[in-house]
Amino acid sequence: MSVTVVGSIAFDAVMTPFGARERMLGGSAVHFALAASFFDTVHVVGPVGDDFGEQEYAVLRARGVNVDDIEHVRGGRTFFWRGEYGWDLNERRTLDTQLNVFGEFRPKLSEHSRSADVVFLANIQPDLQREVRAQCSAARFVALDSMNLWIETARDSLIETIGCVDCLILNDAELRELTREPNLVRAARRARDWGPRVIVAKQGAYGAAMFTDEGFFGLPAFPLETVIDPTGAGDCFAGGFIGYVAAHPDGELDHELLCRAMAYGTVLASYNVEDFGVERVARLTSDEVSERVTDLQRITRFIEKPVALRN
Ligand code: AMP
Repeated sequence: MSVTVVGSIAFDAVMTPFGARERMLGGSAVHFALAASFFDTVHVVGPVGDDFGEQEYAVLRARGVNVDDIEHVRGGRTFFWRGEYGWDLNERRTLDTQLNVFGEFRPKLSEHSRSADVVFLANIQPDLQREVRAQCSAARFVALDSMNLWIETARDSLIETIGCVDCLILNDAELRELTREPNLVRAARRARDWGPRVIVAKQGAYGAAMFTDEGFFGLPAFPLETVIDPTGAGDCFAGGFIGYVAAHPDGELDHELLCRAMAYGTVLASYNVEDFGVERVARLTSDEVSERVTDLQRITRFIEKPVALRN
């Protein structure tokens, strides 16, 4: 069993109120892969340039991520993104995007990547996501993420692609923008009408909400005293959520299982924001993941005791 992710592999420059990094490993596929690596072997599909070296590969290899389908484009430069956060870490400004080798990217999947049990189509052009989806015909569970760029420039293609996946994982505001429904519950219903049976709305520091055939489930973000850099939190959430699904190859992917997947997504995302870029997740241990899942369960559970209510 394995997981395949197709998405950006990047160098990021990030400034937050707590510090800055000029060039660090990032990209949606990288953040996802490191988080999902706690559950299964992850195959990363994406392009890099000559500036992507052994040091970067080593971060992925150290977590057992399979890098065979990372395409090295000779003479090219790796995708570069620069972003800035203010005191409200839910708001970020993109200052620069240099597509570089990502601009000409046509995903090439090896037999191993194509035969994955679970697939994550990270944020890339929706026609390409559909191409990858078609190649991974054996996959049991396919999830997709996207962003405002594609909602605004390729909405029809994105909706067609959403029709081919089991699960849509999108930021709350983007889900409402995509469906043109200002109310989240209606937005999720609309998106489910297009095909996927699971919708997850990521709500940044406020947590995540899930809609399935069997109903609704919500979790807050894990309460942290130190948040340094939220970049990649969404992808780490997806990595924890989808990784948990991948770790359960037998049996039905019912609502209860997906609620537990939400908990792992929440925990992986919470560790990611504790340091810049991939730095925290790269040194994370499986014991730390388990401990925080237990803590999350404790703080989100309450025991109902009837009270005499006044009319
Ligand atoms: P997240 O914070 O989970 O939304 O993802 C952040 C990652 O997305 C960063 O590491 C960036 O390198 C990457 N990223 C930013 N803009 C784009 C884009 N237009 N396409 C693909 N990946 C991007």
